[in-house]
Amino acid sequence: MNHITRKLGIIGDGQLGRMLAQAANPLGIICAAINPSDGMVRCPLTGRELGHGVRTLISESELLTFESEHIPLVMAEQLMHELPLAPSTRSLVAMGDRLGERALLGRHNIPCAAWRECHCADDVRLAEETLGYPLYLKRSHGGYDGRGQWRLTAPGELPADLLEAMAHGVTILAEAHVPFVRELSILAARGREGQMVFYPLVENSHHDGILHVTIAPAPGAEHWQQTANDWIRAVAEDLDHVGMLAIELFDTGSALLVNELAPRVHNSGHWSQRGASHSQFENHVRAVCGLPLQPPQVNGITVMLNVIGEQPVPALAHAPGVQYYWYCKAPRAARKLGHINLHGHDYASLLAQVEALKPLAGPTLTTTLAIAGQRLTTLSR
Ligand code: ATP
Ligand code: MG
Repeated sequence: MNHITRKLGIIGDGQLGRMLAQAANPLGIICAAINPSDGMVRCPLTGRELGHGVRTLISESELLTFESEHIPLVMAEQLMHELPLAPSTRSLVAMGDRLGERALLGRHNIPCAAWRECHCADDVRLAEETLGYPLYLKRSHGGYDGRGQWRLTAPGELPADLLEAMAHGVTILAEAHVPFVRELSILAARGREGQMVFYPLVENSHHDGILHVTIAPAPGAEHWQQTANDWIRAVAEDLDHVGMLAIELFDTGSALLVNELAPRVHNSGHWSQRGASHSQFENHVRAVCGLPLQPPQVNGITVMLNVIGEQPVPALAHAPGVQYYWYCKAPRAARKLGHINLHGHDYASLLAQVEALKPLAGPTLTTTLAIAGQRLTTLSR
């Protein structure tokens, strides 16, 4: 290798960019991140302001990546004329839009829930008739953490904000309900020469459309691993994707269906900071900077708990065994503010760790701990 990248620019300045910068640091790679809304460029580790605008990001970088598929495409296109961008805008376009994802899955015969494209009330009516209830209506572009979604449970008047969105040209993906027994996800990294490394399937628990708990590896999901690996490889190769990517999955007990795709590091991969030899953040940095990927060696069981909407008490960071990540974001209801990784070698010991955190939790973390506790109770029987 002639040249090792020393300066990586990140489009997006949220927690994913911050954790990419944390993983880049030991590799000798310094990051700068741009906030796509106000154009401010900062050091993701210190928050120090480096300047303003895309020219500052370009002067601070040798190559670029992004932390979110919701960045403005025009900004990504402008930047890629100046510096190499990985993943490319092909991945951004294909996985930044639910209809784009459906086209991609269709090309590879990868199954997902029955769906229809909607632009007006008549389209939604037709979707109700053909797909039944509950019916999920999702903005094709720009939704996250359950935002930009409607769930219809019976015939009746359509929500005013849904009608308004469609009147303003928003395309809606209508999706049939999937009677899943659990949700899983698969994550992998692909390098510039097409080499890939795969993380084990993990089990995800959502509440109000937001991820609360990940258990890694997913208990009893080994029989799905090869299928999931094949699907993520097909998607990555189709787009010549470079970097981490994720597929969210529904496990119905007898079938595996795709929910959605993400062309980046993913919340359900945060466990890898504790439970794998090489985290998703490190492998993303390695992939985009052209360093060899490291197959993750997984040790024990990791439980990842999101801290959502509330400031945790300081004692939480000091609790024995806790790996604590705080994103330094202003608290707001339903906002992901941090996460905790717990690690163990059996479900009973992880259940004990979850129970020990309960006296330290506010209302939302109490819900998260209850979800984790319930699942671990079942698993430890
Ligand atoms: P995120 O960005 O956090 O992944 P999102 O806003 O992109 O979320 P989805 O992943 O589409 O939204 O949906 C959020 C959750 O809602 C899913 O993880 C699942 O729990 C539930 N859900 C979504 N679609 C369906 C469906 N068709 N059938 C059953 N449950 C669904
Ligand atoms: Mg999702």
